[in-house]
Amino acid sequence: MPRRVSDGSVHRWYRRPVPVPRRYTTDAIVLSRFDLGEADRVLTLITPEIGKLKAIAKGIRRPTSRLGGSLEPFAELTVALARGRTFDVVTQVSVGHAWLHLRDSLEGAATAWYLAELADRSLEERHAAEPLYALLRRAYELLDGGMAPGRVARWYEMHLLDELGSRPEVDRCVECDRVLESEERFRWVPPLGGVVCERCPGPPHERTRLSLEALKLIKAYQRLDIEALAALRQAPVVEREVETALREFVGYVLEREARSLPFLDEVRHAPVPG
Ligand SMILES: [Zn+2]
Repeated sequence: MPRRVSDGSVHRWYRRPVPVPRRYTTDAIVLSRFDLGEADRVLTLITPEIGKLKAIAKGIRRPTSRLGGSLEPFAELTVALARGRTFDVVTQVSVGHAWLHLRDSLEGAATAWYLAELADRSLEERHAAEPLYALLRRAYELLDGGMAPGRVARWYEMHLLDELGSRPEVDRCVECDRVLESEERFRWVPPLGGVVCERCPGPPHERTRLSLEALKLIKAYQRLDIEALAALRQAPVVEREVETALREFVGYVLEREARSLPFLDEVRHAPVPG
């Protein structure tokens, strides 16, 4: 039976809402934030045990705030919270890992925002998210360690799809289940969950074609560990093909394209100063 993406298994690990005590402390990464009123800020956090949650940092935009500048994105924090009516209230913050090099390039920072947005969109609030927390944390470590942002993003997208139960099928045709052979023509069809062989009708559009090199690179993202992926040499044209293919797949599974992508593409194609 060929695999399908839309089998209802997306978000499979957030079925149980997590009960939360009146006061609690958790590791957290800031996914997004917005200012509220004169001095407050509302944060969306990802935590291992409670999953995604919204919290308010009262008075944080005042220069005298005890919370100060530590409630920033791209860092692993330890946050103390008190349960509130609308949002839980941040009472204390300390920084565990700051990942400062992640901000060295605009592309690194824009990629970090993109990965955070994908995590945000994959989760419902207050359902344990340990695997996704660990994935995002590792991706930030890799960006901080200087791995190419595009490589980190593809690796993260592929593992996110795994966690969502939507791993792309790249070994067999998703229509007829036949093992794909290297000399045939492949088509990339996210709504069907992966690759369609040349014998099956599939969709009519020529733009769904996938080269053998791109198929191999997608397989590498599924199978190779980080060290092997970081060392891969690939033609830019193949990297771009895989980027388009995986973004399209993730966009299909999460039901729309990420809002942070246009900014990421803009900074990536901007001329490098100096
Ligand atoms: Zn087929």
